[in-house]
This record gives sequence, C-alpha cells and structure tokens, in this order.
Amino acid sequence: MPIALDLHSHIPHPAGPLRLRVDSAALADNWRWLAAQSGQAQCGAAVKANAYGLGARDAVRVLVDAGCRIFFVATWAEAIELAPWHEELELHVLHGVRDEDMPTALAYNARPVLNSVEQVRRWRQGGKGRPCSVMVDTGMNRLGVSVAELGAGLLDGLNCDLVISHLASADEDVPLNARQRADFAALMPQLSGRRMSIANSAGITLGRDYHFDLTRPGLSLYGGIARREAEGHIRPVARIEAQVLQRRRIAAGDTVGYNATFAADRPMELAILNLGYADGYWRGFSGKGRALRDGVELPVIGRVSMDLTAVAVDAAPGIKEGDWVEVDYTLATAAKLSGMSQYELLTGLGRRFERHWA
Ligand SMILES: *Cc1c(COP(=O)(O)O)cnc(C)c1O
Repeated sequence: MPIALDLHSHIPHPAGPLRLRVDSAALADNWRWLAAQSGQAQCGAAVKANAYGLGARDAVRVLVDAGCRIFFVATWAEAIELAPWHEELELHVLHGVRDEDMPTALAYNARPVLNSVEQVRRWRQGGKGRPCSVMVDTGMNRLGVSVAELGAGLLDGLNCDLVISHLASADEDVPLNARQRADFAALMPQLSGRRMSIANSAGITLGRDYHFDLTRPGLSLYGGIARREAEGHIRPVARIEAQVLQRRRIAAGDTVGYNATFAADRPMELAILNLGYADGYWRGFSGKGRALRDGVELPVIGRVSMDLTAVAVDAAPGIKEGDWVEVDYTLATAAKLSGMSQYELLTGLGRRFERHWA
C-alpha cells in the first residue's frame, strides 16, 4: 500500500506548551551597541548554531534591518539554511571547506574561512578564484593556519580580503589577550590592505586595539554578558514560558521527583511545568531555578526531569492547570545557578520550544 505523504496534514496541531519569546528590538539594540563600541571597525554577527538557538533566519532578518551586513556560520548546512543569500551581504563559513563541501561552496555565494594549508590548497585549485577568508591561529590552537605558514606566501593567488584570528580568553583579564593581539597586529604589513578581525563579544569591550577592521560578536547579540563592561547595555533577548500541566498538593514528608531529593517539611502546593532537560532546562537547575508568575517567585522543587519540572506555588495560590509561567532565564545568573555557560544555556534551547519573534 502506498504511504500517504500528507498523512499528517489533516491532523490539527495544537499550540505547544512551551514558548521561547525572542525580542527583535533587543537583538537589534544589542547589535547597534556592539557596532558603536566597535568604533571605526565594521561589526558583523555570528549566527552559527541557529543563531545560538534562537533561530538563524529570523535573527539575520532582524540584524540586516539593524544595519548588519556580515555574518558567520560554522558549516555549509547552516549556510544553506539561510538561502537565498543576498549578494550584497557577506556570509562566512567558519569551518572552511572539506572536499565534500566543494560543490556546495561553488554553487552558493557564501565564503569559506580557510583554516589549514590543506584547505587553502583545495580552494586555490578548485575555488575558481572566488572570495574566501583565512583564519590564523594566535594561541587558541583550535582552527587556523600558523603565523609561520601565513608568512610563507600562503595567500598568494588567493582571492582573500579578510584574515581573522580568535581570542582564547577575552572574557578574562589575562596577558594572553595582549599577546594574541600583538601577534595578530604584527601580521599587518604582510596582509597589505586585507581586512583583519580578532574580536568576539568580549573582545569588543577590551578596547579599540582589538577592533581592527571588523568585529564578530555572537553571545552579546543574544543577551549574554561576556564581560562586566557590557552590563547595563546589553538587553535580554530570550524569555522562556512554560505551561502548567497539573496542580498538586503534597503533605509534609512527601518527596518530589526522581531519587526523592526533595522532602516537604510542610504541606505544599506544586505546579508541574512542561519543561525539562531535553528542552535545555538542565538538571543543574534542580532545587535552584525559579519560575515567575506576576512577579512572584516560584522555586524549582526536586530534580528537573527530561520533560517536566515542579515548582512550588504556595506564593501564587490562584495558579491552575493551563496557566503559563515565565521561567527565569536571565543568562548571567542562570549560568551561575546551573553551572552551565551562557553559551550552553542559549544553544541548548531545544526544538520543542515554539519560537515567537516579536
Ligand atoms: C562563535 C565565534 C564568534 C562569536 O563569539 P562570541 O563569544 O559568541 O561573541 C566569533 N568568532 C568565531 C571564530 C567564533 O567561532
């Protein structure tokens, strides 16, 4: 029997019980602030990992409206998700080109960031003179050609107008920052007119010495506070809302959740939320996170499960099945509470969130 491909099209889809609200105006404001902090340098945007979990297509649309023209993704699959790509914008693919990427790279107007001598050779031979960028390693030891390799005529015959490097510890005050900056700056004479870029979100607030020709913020666009200097300037972009699936009363001595890590010392009122670690609400929030209802704090009780989280609602007695609560996801504090980085908190936000851009 043939399988009906539209089998599901007749089944109504209910609105989901989990929302991610994305504030476009805050995203645009954050980019404008980072662009202003970047001084004379152009300011791009890292939209890899689905714009840190928020939705890359929508993020690009908002950022283009705000004035951004230069974007970075990690892989060709991420680049293709942004198709069709406008000729007047730049899209850089940070992981460069493998052999199997070449047909895609030639069919699409995104540029590889070449990371190794091998990738440079591949693009020189098969890239048909199309534009590319090059990553040089100055201490991260992750991706990039070495300073010595770059000095050996590596860029000859390559249509490369952007050379980038990446800071390992820009969110800390350590000598490595100045060392990387100096090693990068020393390349300036041999790069003759090509644009240079080293600063991520944290690097931008290290000061103008780090701006070069182009900055590449990611985290702070999406509300992350990379360094203290950004506090009070970067606005939160993502908010989480979860629906109450059930109300329940527990008695003194009752335990809650896996492994019964919480035992009530008095009768309590709980609400069970449609949210768990499979959504990126990590187990580190167990007994530490909190939801909010009309400004009232509802502490997380017991362990976060895969799909469910219990909160105490004694302080919000009117709350009932079907109601919505906001789950506090203020990145800097949520990171401290959960033991996850702000990056992990954003990129972990799962597919079960309905993303609402406003
Ligand atoms: C992810 C990334 C960025 C953005 O970094 P943030 O710390 O999120 O601002 C910039 N450059 C490169 C090479 C990256 O991989």
